[in-house]
Amino acid sequence: MNNSNKSVVVAGGGGFIGGHLVGDLIKQGYSSIKVIDIKPLKEWYQVFPEVRNVVADLKSLENTRSAVEGVDEVYNLAADMGGMGFIENNKALCMLSSLINTHLLMSSQEAKVGRYFYASSACVYSEDKQLSVDNPGLKESDAYPAMPEDGYGWEKLFSERMCRHFLEDYGITTRVARYHNVYGPDGTWEGGREKAPAAICRKVISAKISGSQEIEIWGDGEQTRSFMYIDDCIKGSQMLLHSEVEDPINIGSSQMVTINQLVTIVEEIAGIKIKRNYNLDAPKGVRGRSSDNSLIEELFDWSPSISLELGMEKTYKWIYDQITK
Ligand code: NAD
Repeated sequence: MNNSNKSVVVAGGGGFIGGHLVGDLIKQGYSSIKVIDIKPLKEWYQVFPEVRNVVADLKSLENTRSAVEGVDEVYNLAADMGGMGFIENNKALCMLSSLINTHLLMSSQEAKVGRYFYASSACVYSEDKQLSVDNPGLKESDAYPAMPEDGYGWEKLFSERMCRHFLEDYGITTRVARYHNVYGPDGTWEGGREKAPAAICRKVISAKISGSQEIEIWGDGEQTRSFMYIDDCIKGSQMLLHSEVEDPINIGSSQMVTINQLVTIVEEIAGIKIKRNYNLDAPKGVRGRSSDNSLIEELFDWSPSISLELGMEKTYKWIYDQITK
């Protein structure tokens, strides 16, 4: 179905996923797009002059009210977040993102918004389901009994439930995606908020350029994860928003790799061999995590499929350009 006649708000559109979503909506012919982010415009990863770009703090109820006025669809991608290094050391900041989702939901209900998307995370899953490297894949039901990642994961789980109760009590059509590690160009790659794929690309590129030929790896490198390329994330998110699926659903890759295997992929792209120095005191997160995609495959006959090798090649090239610019 073509939804391009709908007016859309992308909250957090100055960020990684939001920027790609806006680009895709424009390509599809959406003509009424408002993009909102707290960062000054010059810090947005992508700025599209043909849409309305607004700098505002969406923790404020006043700002969320004016953000969603007269709007059909809201994508809430705004959050104070980052990789393990950031979320382990900024739990209060992560929790404060609950204000963004709460105020956006309240305002969307008042403004009778048609559909509301919330970006949750694999960090909602119980830590005791992620103790082993050979994780069979996290199923949606594994979020309960709840013992998510401290700070960030609790905020995501609470916000998921806010979406659920706004749907049950007020009838607003909320849809919730549990993203598993999204990566790609035009996202955070330095500064402390970056995640493993971008951090490893940056480290390998720097080691290649400087000639040091060595990098630091957080943990022993045997922890497992799955990584989803941004294009799959954008497609899955829009599919979910326009679906009838009311419960949170995984949007993530099921191609599980160790961090060491991820480093090997980047070495091959860079065409060098790197000495790996393991920092066992660095933030590591859970021991094993991947996405079980049975539900999304059953409901949509689709799941993220862009290979890690292909996605990392595109990401590497973009980060290489940023470093050498
Ligand atoms: P990002 O940090 O690149 O983008 C988030 C944006 O939200 C930033 O540009 C930030 O400035 C903005 N923001 C923060 N506080 C705000 C506020 N008070 N008002 C307005 N804007 C505000 O992150 P991303 O990777 O694009 O993630 C988007 C969403 O997806 C987030 O909710 C994140 O938690 C979720 N998510 C991402 C991943 C991933 O791997 N990238 C995984 C799971 C969940």
